[in-house]
Amino acid sequence: MNKKAISLLSGGLDSVLSTKVIMEQGIDVIALHFTSPFSSKREKERGLQAVRAVSELGIGLILKHKGPEFIDVVRSPRYGYGKNINPCIDCRIFMLHKTREIMEEEQASFVVTGEVLGQRPMSQRRDTIRIIEKASGLEGLIVRPLSAMHFSPSIPEQEGILDRDKLLDFSGRSRTPQFRLAEKYNLTEFGSPGGGCLLTDPIFTKKLKDLFEYDKAFTMKDLELLSIGRHFRLRADTKLIVGRNEAENDKLISLWSAHAYISFYPIGFSGPVAILKGAFDDDIINTTANIMGYYGKNESPVISIESNNGTVNRHVVEKRSIMPEELLAGTQQEAS
Ligand code: SF4
Repeated sequence: MNKKAISLLSGGLDSVLSTKVIMEQGIDVIALHFTSPFSSKREKERGLQAVRAVSELGIGLILKHKGPEFIDVVRSPRYGYGKNINPCIDCRIFMLHKTREIMEEEQASFVVTGEVLGQRPMSQRRDTIRIIEKASGLEGLIVRPLSAMHFSPSIPEQEGILDRDKLLDFSGRSRTPQFRLAEKYNLTEFGSPGGGCLLTDPIFTKKLKDLFEYDKAFTMKDLELLSIGRHFRLRADTKLIVGRNEAENDKLISLWSAHAYISFYPIGFSGPVAILKGAFDDDIINTTANIMGYYGKNESPVISIESNNGTVNRHVVEKRSIMPEELLAGTQQEAS
């Protein structure tokens, strides 16, 4: 066993502090930050924070995307979901599996995490921590510097690579000890605590379940689109996404690709852009025009249609000033 470790660094306070505590013992630490198709806005900010944190700590950073493999974990987690569609236990196991691979590549001997016993309801309970460690294949090789005294000594502690007496005994939800420690180390680059990924968001959960149910061959781009616009399941094989503001309209245009989606633009009025995936006919076009007209406050909207064969058509619908009730009632899903 050598004095080299991989530290899982989210960019949040606990992970930054854990990294620092281990560095203080003369360990060569490389930070590892995971990104995912389900990263929330706050998590993306934390990613930037991770970059700033490693610069403050003076260590290297490996960025790793969880990739399409993680979708299978979300679809059918062995240990089930939390309150929404968040498979936190399986997610932690997945990340640790990946970490183990990187540990081998980097010839590091152990892994550091920012876990604090009892801080999160699902993944940071003693029993789940044990399950996660066992399933990851890293038994004895995970060091939790902030909560180490609540666990049996890890292998690096047993082998004298780490001095157990210099590890900590934090537990529970209070962050006061962590803030004190950050002050002691004069650390300023860390993200605000709390918050999960988009899988913990009930609205996102609704949209993801819809995607799993109706689109068996969805792409990573379809996943990315779940965070943008208003979503309408018009039929089993047809979904419409409507921008809520100019930034979302631009994003929809940038994500549009001819082979996968049909796009709709308002003509002569200031309204949303929409993109559609699936089958479409005159009924669908009329409904789409009405929805765009509803949000663009235009009772007789004219729209242009860019279909997958590259042709551009115009379509005028009959005047309708209100949104179809059935859409408001059942199929609309606001983006998170
Ligand atoms: S909140 Fe999301 S990223 Fe965090 S452990 Fe749970 S599933 Fe994984």
